[in-house]
Amino acid sequence: YLELQSVRKRFGNAAVLNGVHLDVAEGELVTLLGPSGCGKSTLLRCIAGLAVLDGGRIVLQGRDLGGLAPRERQVGMVFQSFALFPNLTAGENVEYGLRMRGESKRGRRRRAEELLALVDLEDKRDVYPHHLSGGQQQRIALARSLAVQPKLLLLDEPLSALDAQIRKNLRSEIRSIQQRLNMTTLFVTHDQEEALTMSDRVCIMNKGVIVQEGTPEQIYMTPRTEFAARFMGSYN
Ligand code: ATP
Ligand code: MG
Repeated sequence: YLELQSVRKRFGNAAVLNGVHLDVAEGELVTLLGPSGCGKSTLLRCIAGLAVLDGGRIVLQGRDLGGLAPRERQVGMVFQSFALFPNLTAGENVEYGLRMRGESKRGRRRRAEELLALVDLEDKRDVYPHHLSGGQQQRIALARSLAVQPKLLLLDEPLSALDAQIRKNLRSEIRSIQQRLNMTTLFVTHDQEEALTMSDRVCIMNKGVIVQEGTPEQIYMTPRTEFAARFMGSYN
C-alpha cells in the first residue's frame, strides 16, 4: 500500500535519511520511534511532499509520489505544534481542504459536522483556536487532515506538547478513530510507551535508517540491536 524504497535525504553535508525501506499495509498503524534528530520528521515531510528526496522512491497505492505537489499526494498530516489557522473557526479549519477543492458550501458544512462529531467536538464549530485547549486543537487538526479523505495519514508527535493525562486519552481516541476508518497511518514519536500501546508495528529509527521493525511485543521482548535494547531499556 505504502512503499518506501531506499529513501535518502541530505541537508548540505549532513546525511539525514540514509536509505529508508518500509512497507506499510492498508489500514495499518506503523510507529516510527527514535531519538531526537534521527530523521523522523524529515521522513514524514518527504512523504508529504514538503521536502524533496535525494534518492529512492515513495510509492502510494501503486503511484510514485515523486514530482507530485503536496496537494496531489492525498496525504494528510498533523504536526507536533498546533498548526490551525488562527483566524478561522474550528469548523472553518476543518472545511479548509474541501474549500480548496471547490466543494459546495453545503457539502463542506455537512462533512465538517461529521468530522467534528468524530473527534467529539460538535459544540466547538464556531470557536476560534485560541479558545481551545491543546488537546482540542489537535483533535481539530486531526479532523482537518481527515476531511479530504487522504489515503495516508502522517502524525508527527501530535501528542508531545500535551500534558500526561490528556495525552493518554487522546492516544486511545486517535487509535480508535484510525481503526474505525481503517486509515493507513505513520505515527512518529519518541515515547516508547506510546509506540508500544498504539501500534500494529513499530520501527526503531536511528541515524537515518530503520534499525529494527516488528510488533510491539517483538520489539519489547527481543530488541535485535544494542541500540534498540538501550532505547527500550528506559521503558518501564
Ligand atoms: P525530533 O524527535 O527532535 O523531532 P526528528 O527525528 O524528527 O527529531 P528531524 O527533524 O527529521 O529529526 O531532523 C533530522 C536532522 O536533520 C537534524 O539533525 C536536523 O537538524 C536536520 N534538519 C532537519 N530539517 C532541516 C532543514 N530544513 N535544514 C537543515 N537541516 C535540517
Ligand atoms: Mg521531529
